[in-house]
Amino acid sequence: MPWIDITTPLRHNMPTWPGDPACLIHQSVRMDQGAVCNLTHLNLSAHTATHMDAPRHFIADGKTMDQLPLDAVIGPCRILDLTHVTGQITPADLAPHHLQPDERLLFKTTNSTHSWSLNHFDPDFISIRQDAARYLVDHGIRTVGVDYLSIGGYGKDVIETHQIMLGAEIWVIEGLNLAHVTPGPYHLTCLPLLIPGADGAPCRALLSPP
Ligand SMILES: [Zn+2]
Repeated sequence: MPWIDITTPLRHNMPTWPGDPACLIHQSVRMDQGAVCNLTHLNLSAHTATHMDAPRHFIADGKTMDQLPLDAVIGPCRILDLTHVTGQITPADLAPHHLQPDERLLFKTTNSTHSWSLNHFDPDFISIRQDAARYLVDHGIRTVGVDYLSIGGYGKDVIETHQIMLGAEIWVIEGLNLAHVTPGPYHLTCLPLLIPGADGAPCRALLSPP
């Protein structure tokens, strides 16, 4: 099976959303210091690198990661080519793609090549404008994946876009890297860590032929 890995690796001190805890990864036990094994210590937000947002992230009584229906993240998906978009994704950018109810959609933008190439958080990453978030809800989309740290834009409509999409129980994957993916149909396999009660969770995301 020719798997395509669309996961952004977890790295020590990698860019995170401003104000989130830093991603700290270090070996707390080391064989090169005489220990019998190596042991890596992780200290990170649930919203680091490639991860999912549960409705609970912005909805006080929303579903949590353990309530994720697995068919939201395993099954046919479509990678939409949105690499022409500058600024924010609008309904006019989505309309030509003829969205269908219950689809799993991943948006490929210049974030995959530009934003992830930076050593710091990119405040100007391509995001989903709140009217486009509403458009996704109105079309009954099941799952949306984006190629940077948030569906909504920094200093723009980050709150509104999350409230609209998570409020409609669209399951959200953030922090993908689609740089090496040709837009089109695929089969998605995305498995978040099982953290009961959590508003998000790191995940591994893979594509395979449809
Ligand atoms: Zn998130």
